Amino acid sequence: MDALDRLLGKREHSLEERVRLLELVEPAEVARLHRAAWETAGRHVGNKVYYRGIIEFSNLCVRNCFYCGIRRGNPVVERYRLTEEEVLENARWCAGAGFGSVVMQSGERSDPAFVEFVTRCVERIRRETVSETLPRGLGITLSVGEQSLETYRQWITAGAHRYLLRIESSNPEIFARIHPESQPWQARLEALQRLRQAGFQLGTGVMIGLPGQRTRDLAADIGFFIGQDCDMIGMGPYLSSPGTPMEGQDPLAREDLLRLALNMIAVTRLGMPDVNIAATTALQALVPDGRERGIRAGANVIMPNLTPVQVRRHYQLYPGKPCLDEGRVECRTCLQGRIEGTGREAGWNEWGDSPHARRRQAAAGASPLPAG
Ligand code: SAH
Repeated sequence: MDALDRLLGKREHSLEERVRLLELVEPAEVARLHRAAWETAGRHVGNKVYYRGIIEFSNLCVRNCFYCGIRRGNPVVERYRLTEEEVLENARWCAGAGFGSVVMQSGERSDPAFVEFVTRCVERIRRETVSETLPRGLGITLSVGEQSLETYRQWITAGAHRYLLRIESSNPEIFARIHPESQPWQARLEALQRLRQAGFQLGTGVMIGLPGQRTRDLAADIGFFIGQDCDMIGMGPYLSSPGTPMEGQDPLAREDLLRLALNMIAVTRLGMPDVNIAATTALQALVPDGRERGIRAGANVIMPNLTPVQVRRHYQLYPGKPCLDEGRVECRTCLQGRIEGTGREAGWNEWGDSPHARRRQAAAGASPLPAG
């Protein structure tokens, strides 16, 4: 057994050890890291990869994140919002396709009309997707930014149970460089705490390869995820977006960025064996088989895009977004092949909550919906 084996066999790593693992570049060593993470995932979250059909229901946004293609200040973007019927039609299709869970994502707004719109969609998805194969209807994840405790509670009551809000970077200095002053790191952290308080299964994550971000920062991000006791992690490579203040600032070569993003998934998996980790679409923007590689490095969730093809190109957070013209039917077939190609199986018609969330909620005795 060599030093790397010993490191890979450990359940807990120091910051220095995480840095060492994240910085692996030699292909045989990288392969060993990914293998260890894949096996850890198999043991703790099982052999299935779960689907979350994602509906990007609007690109209207009040925020001005310096990296994001749909930031308020980007005048080139054609703004859209789907109607309640369009969201429901997609959700019903998602349920019929066997995906088991849906994610509603959009730009951020918190005006009453928006809050009500999300509430109504969630209530109707919860009611209208119940069937014999899905007795509780679709699992519902929201990803619509920082909101008040009251709003988060309203959405839980409506029937949502998971929420994704990335901390973007756990280092407040990096966060401050990529957001306007009106969007402080502390407010992001407090929103995560409110989500927990409201009773959501909590997902967070970071962008990988940001200007000025060191491997130490990424190693510390993993410590942050563990400290927040997160149930789900969604991370992806940072890709500079045209028309944003950070346009053209891509510190890493693509190959290095891909390796770092995959190593980040793997090292996170070693430290958080029982959470759900997404193989995010941004990985596929880097290489066509990016998501499969994410699964091979320890991820266990994949997010097929259900946004209608007519508006999909208006929801480009970063350039190179894949499958811009691919309809949802082709997407389903393509993904199944991709998952099976990795040696995992697809978790049809299941919510696929992380074992971490199930255990935490059972301990708290506070599951808003029966866990599944
Ligand atoms: N408005 C919601 C959801 C949409 S943004 C929210 O802020 O939570 C979803 C995620 O996309 C962000 O959290 C960010 O991590 C990622 N993202 C935005 N711009 C990006 C870029 N240029 N490259 C990579 N990821 C990006």
